[in-house]
Amino acid sequence: MKLIFEKSVAGRKAIEFDTEVPLVNGILDEGMRRTKLGLPEVSEIDVIRHYTALSRRNFCVDNGFYPLGSCTMKYNPKINEDMSRLSGFNMLHPLNLDNQGALQLMHELSSDLCEITGLSAFTLQPAAGAHGELTGLMIIRKYFSGKNRTKIVTPDSSHGTNPASATMCGFTTVTIKSNSHGLVDLEELKANLDPSVAAVMLTIPNTLGLFEKDILEISKIVHDNGSLLYMDGANMNALLGIARPGDMGVDVMHINLHKTFATPHGCGGPGAGPVGVKEFLKDYLPNPGIDLDGGVYGFIDHPKSIGKVRAFYGNFGVMVKAYTYIKSIGGSGLREVTENAVLNANYMKEMLKKDFDLAHDTVCKHEFVLSDTGMPNGVTTNDIAKRLLDYGYHPPTIYFPLIVHGAIMIEPNETESKDTMDEFISVMKKIKQEAVSDPDLVKSAPNTTVVKKLDAVKAAREPVLKFVL
Ligand SMILES: *Cc1c(COP(=O)(O)O)cnc(C)c1O
Repeated sequence: MKLIFEKSVAGRKAIEFDTEVPLVNGILDEGMRRTKLGLPEVSEIDVIRHYTALSRRNFCVDNGFYPLGSCTMKYNPKINEDMSRLSGFNMLHPLNLDNQGALQLMHELSSDLCEITGLSAFTLQPAAGAHGELTGLMIIRKYFSGKNRTKIVTPDSSHGTNPASATMCGFTTVTIKSNSHGLVDLEELKANLDPSVAAVMLTIPNTLGLFEKDILEISKIVHDNGSLLYMDGANMNALLGIARPGDMGVDVMHINLHKTFATPHGCGGPGAGPVGVKEFLKDYLPNPGIDLDGGVYGFIDHPKSIGKVRAFYGNFGVMVKAYTYIKSIGGSGLREVTENAVLNANYMKEMLKKDFDLAHDTVCKHEFVLSDTGMPNGVTTNDIAKRLLDYGYHPPTIYFPLIVHGAIMIEPNETESKDTMDEFISVMKKIKQEAVSDPDLVKSAPNTTVVKKLDAVKAAREPVLKFVL
């Protein structure tokens, strides 16, 4: 097998694999075989110290405030972990098809999600939010098969995965401009609807943390056009127990269990992106579905199914955690989650708006977006984010959404105390003062971290993709 690095695509170096492996009588050629492993000899204690030291450099929700907008980095109660590690769950073989406990858990979790969202049926198979989007869009594509509905309309504030999923699913994406309030512009929407539009894909609340107040009218406009309404439900932390997407006219949506329902998900940990649909789309869900018939749980096949989207039934451990979270918090608890998440975000927004420009000075939902337009001495969002590292914080999401200049997207979640938020607010204000009095200190950040400022442009232009010992 040879690795070829030379091919240049759009100015970037692409890797190509030449997969011809030289075999002699079915055995790997002598010259290709490894003769020695070349691993260093180290004692157990040195290995332990090495990895313990590395683990201490990790930043996670368990050791600090993590206001990463759009990611819902809430505290993940440890009881969720305990439940997912019960041997009856984690030693279960996926081919043990008749395990009533596991099937019951999945069935009840689906019913809870139906109740929370106002939709009729869920599949738990998709392994992440983006995978849920793809699954939902595959359902829409199959529903419209032979109908020449080839377009997905999505606002310019949408999460990057939305147009990406639509493209991957074979649709053409039409992006529409948001209005001056950061919401869907109804006239723009109408102007872009025609009989070739399969669905309009909205994130609610959107990535500016704003609720689409015209959602009922939007839903009517979309349905009058014969199109479906898809909702990216990754921001459900702002709706739990208060508003149900099904009641707003949403036909298909995904939920990020790892965000809203508390599974640790930094660094691409296992997630789950269940997809819910209205009754008329139920038959298209991935196979197998789970059914309760005469007191016995079992698998069923949906007659018009798009097929299977994931090995076995999805990331079962994440389902156990979400189930535990929902059952331990309860219905009124879920509403409180949302109330506190929204209250916290509005508190921080109000406290920071004297020092930083707001993208939209209005009541937000679970998150809000600042801009670096008012920063003195050429200090940018990137500088602020790096300076936050010096103060021991994971920075907020930056430069997203793209429609805000130097966006800083802050999502505190319901699990943070007022003290934690106040400390962060005071650090942000301090950075603003530093930008006035000592801008170089901010621009050279991070100064106290193990790795100093990285050359992000060089890393993007000249990626080193090979590890050389
Ligand atoms: C996180 C997120 C996604 C993608 O979810 P993944 O699980 O990371 O694939 C999609 N849309 C929105 C609004 C999100 O916040």
